[in-house]
Amino acid sequence: MELGDRHGRVATDLRVSLTDRCNLRCQYCMPAEGLDWMPAEETLTDDELNRLIAIAVTRLGVTDVRFTGGEPLLRRGLPAIVAATKALPGSPRTAITTNALGLKHTAAALAAAGLDRVNVSLDTTDPETFERITRRPRLHDVLDGLAAAQAAGMRPVKVNAVLLRGINDHEAPDLLRWCMKHEYELRFIEQMPLDAQHGWDRASMVTADETLALLGESFRLTPLDGRGSAPAEKFLVDDGPHTVGIIGSVTRPFCGDCNRVRLTADGQVRNCLFAREESDLRAALRSGASDDELAQRWVAAMATKRPGHGIDDPAFLQPTRPMSAIGG
Ligand code: SAM
Ligand code: SF4
Repeated sequence: MELGDRHGRVATDLRVSLTDRCNLRCQYCMPAEGLDWMPAEETLTDDELNRLIAIAVTRLGVTDVRFTGGEPLLRRGLPAIVAATKALPGSPRTAITTNALGLKHTAAALAAAGLDRVNVSLDTTDPETFERITRRPRLHDVLDGLAAAQAAGMRPVKVNAVLLRGINDHEAPDLLRWCMKHEYELRFIEQMPLDAQHGWDRASMVTADETLALLGESFRLTPLDGRGSAPAEKFLVDDGPHTVGIIGSVTRPFCGDCNRVRLTADGQVRNCLFAREESDLRAALRSGASDDELAQRWVAAMATKRPGHGIDDPAFLQPTRPMSAIGG
């Protein structure tokens, strides 16, 4: 079996949200206060999670597993979950997307568990801008976490940045310079309508074109071919060797090449970040479904994947769950 849809795409890249909780409050993701966490009893246990990941890898053709959230490092069982995933047949590639708070203390254990790669979210290297965006004064922890990931041998260490107009967009060239100096691979991601407070506004989003223009004032950018199913368009910076990625999720969608499927921390399959429906594997699992039945449910959930996210459609509706509860 495979996770195919009616538009010829096959999902092989599983994004697992380990928790909806977070220790930052980035303004493009969460409100300053409030936002109810998922009840503990609804969250999959480590064993339940490992079973679903095993089904995806051994029966459904998944080759890549990325752990995200909320903040995946807040999940205590993370190293054991990574180790269980790596021990599956074919040893899937594993990665985390993290804000890196606490990574300083866990990077070595995660590398030992077999974690292959880490993407750290960092929008600025200015402490004041950092606190303005994340609402917490924790820049130093993120920088320590990045260094620890590199010291633990994870390569490449990627940095994901979201630009916000009037807040950190003017810092884009500095951030690129800083990442090149530290050998981190930077990618800029367009802000998407996935914040819990529904504050996204197309007009104020910094587009991929604008980001390229901003960087173009300081660097010579040469497009590289071969985006494949990767969302980032890559550019060589000043003839290399460093590159920068631009992920135009909204204005340059890569839906036609999407190979992703998502599992939320409460055991719902989502066939798209922007899906309006979910398929409840947790209820099936807890009522005694066999691996085969769970796999069949998962396949059925993928069939209805829509061709695109439809953000530009006047009838577009933001998903009910915010990014932090879906898994970014
Ligand atoms: N807490 C982890 C982190 O920040 O890396 C993992 C979860 S976070 C939801 C995953 C990624 O989504 C981060 O890189 C974050 O910057 C990005 N993100 C969050 N809200 C976004 C939005 N509205 N538009 C675009 N990217 C967003
Ligand atoms: Fe937390 Fe990541 Fe959302 Fe920031 S983007 S609030 S770090 S989940």
